[in-house]
Amino acid sequence: MNKLYLLFICFPVSLFAQSTYLLKPDRVFDGESIHEGWAVRVKDDKIEAAGPTSTVSANGAEVIELKGQTLMPGLIEGHSHLLLHPYNETPWDDQVLKEARSLRVARATVHAQKTLMAGFTTVRDLGTEGADYDDVGLKQAINKGIIPGPRMIIVTRALIATGSYAPKGFSPDIDVPQGAEEADGHDALIQAVRRQIGKGADAIKIYADYRWGLMAEARPTYTVEEIKLIVEVAKSSGRGVVAHASTAEGMRRAILGGCETVEHGDAGTPEIFALMKQHGTALCPTLAAGDATSQYRGWKKGQEPEPERIKQKRVTFKQAIDADVTMCAGGDVGVFSHGDNARELIMMVDYGMKPLAVLRSATSVNADVFHLADRGRVRAGLLADLVAVEGDPTKTIADLRRVRVVMKGGVLYK
Ligand SMILES: [Zn+2]
Repeated sequence: MNKLYLLFICFPVSLFAQSTYLLKPDRVFDGESIHEGWAVRVKDDKIEAAGPTSTVSANGAEVIELKGQTLMPGLIEGHSHLLLHPYNETPWDDQVLKEARSLRVARATVHAQKTLMAGFTTVRDLGTEGADYDDVGLKQAINKGIIPGPRMIIVTRALIATGSYAPKGFSPDIDVPQGAEEADGHDALIQAVRRQIGKGADAIKIYADYRWGLMAEARPTYTVEEIKLIVEVAKSSGRGVVAHASTAEGMRRAILGGCETVEHGDAGTPEIFALMKQHGTALCPTLAAGDATSQYRGWKKGQEPEPERIKQKRVTFKQAIDADVTMCAGGDVGVFSHGDNARELIMMVDYGMKPLAVLRSATSVNADVFHLADRGRVRAGLLADLVAVEGDPTKTIADLRRVRVVMKGGVLYK
C-alpha cells in the first residue's frame, strides 16, 4: 500500500483535486495517435492543455517528469463483472448460489481498487450475475470517494428469456435463483427495462442466446421483436442496449433489433460481421475469457496445441477485423482476475490487431461506443483520467502491464 493511497483513505477530502500538474512523458498517446515530446497540463479534475512541451505552460504547476514513459487516456474496460471472481477459484454456479451477497460485495471493493491501479479508470460492468442491484451501491461508494475504483457504467441485473440462463441442471421440480432477471413478451419486458433503469442501470444488457435446456447448446432466446421493444424502451430514456451473443442467429437478432454492442460473437460469420458493419454494431470480442475458461478445463497453454474453440475464435476474430467492424476492448474480467485487464489487449494483438488499433479500442473507440464524450482522449476540457506506463505500448503492447502513474479526475492514485 503506497503513501498516496493511505492519504486518500485517511482524508477523503483529497478526492476533490485542487492541484495543477504538468506531466512530462517521453510521448503522449492521445487516444488516436502518438506524439513525441508532448506535455499535458491538468487543473483540478480536467485536462487544461495538451501539446508540444514548449506550448504548454508550467506556471504554478507541480511538474511530474515521466522519463521513458508513455502517457495515455485512462483505459476503459469494455466488459467486466466486478461482482465475480475467477471461476478456477469458485465455479460461477457456486458464486451465484452459495456466496453471501456481503461476501461478493466485499470482494468487489477489492476488485475495483485492483482495476483502477491497473490503469483502467472506467469500466462497463455488464451484470451483477445474481447479486441483484449491488453494482449500484458499488458505483456510489466509488463516486463518493469511500473506496478507490474506476468510474462505472452499470447494467444491474441484465435480462434473460425465461428458462434460458443459469444456474441450470437441477430437478425441473424446483426453481433455482438465476444469474439475471427473467422477462419475456411485451408488458413484462417494458416493466423490467424500466425497473432496471429506475434502480440505476446506465445501459440494458440482454442475453440474445445461451446454452439452453437439456441439449446444452447455445440457441437464440429473444425474438427480434422482443429485442426491438427492449431497445425502444431503453433508447427513449437515452440508454443503449448491449447483447450477449455467441451464435450467428443470436448475433443477427441483436444487430437487427438495434443493440449497440455484441459481446463475445464467437460463432460469427463473414455475413454476420458485414451486417454489423452495415448497422454500426460494435463487437466486444472477450478473447481472454475463452482463453481462461479453456485453461480452467485443463488446456495447458504453451505446452499443448490450441483447442478447437480457440482456433475457431482466431478465425472469427480475423473475419470481424476484415469486415472492419468497430472493435471494443473488453475481456469479460471476473472470469479471470480483476487487475489483469491488460490480458485482453495483449491477446487482441496476438490474434491479429495492430497495437495502436488496440489502444484506440481501449480509449477513444470504447468512449465513443459507450457515449462517454468526457473521456477516452487526451484533450483540453476532458476529464483528467490519465495513465502512464514504462516504455511504448504502441510498439510493445505488453508495456501496458508496466503502469507507473494512475490519475482519475485529477487525483493521483499511483
Ligand atoms: Zn460477461
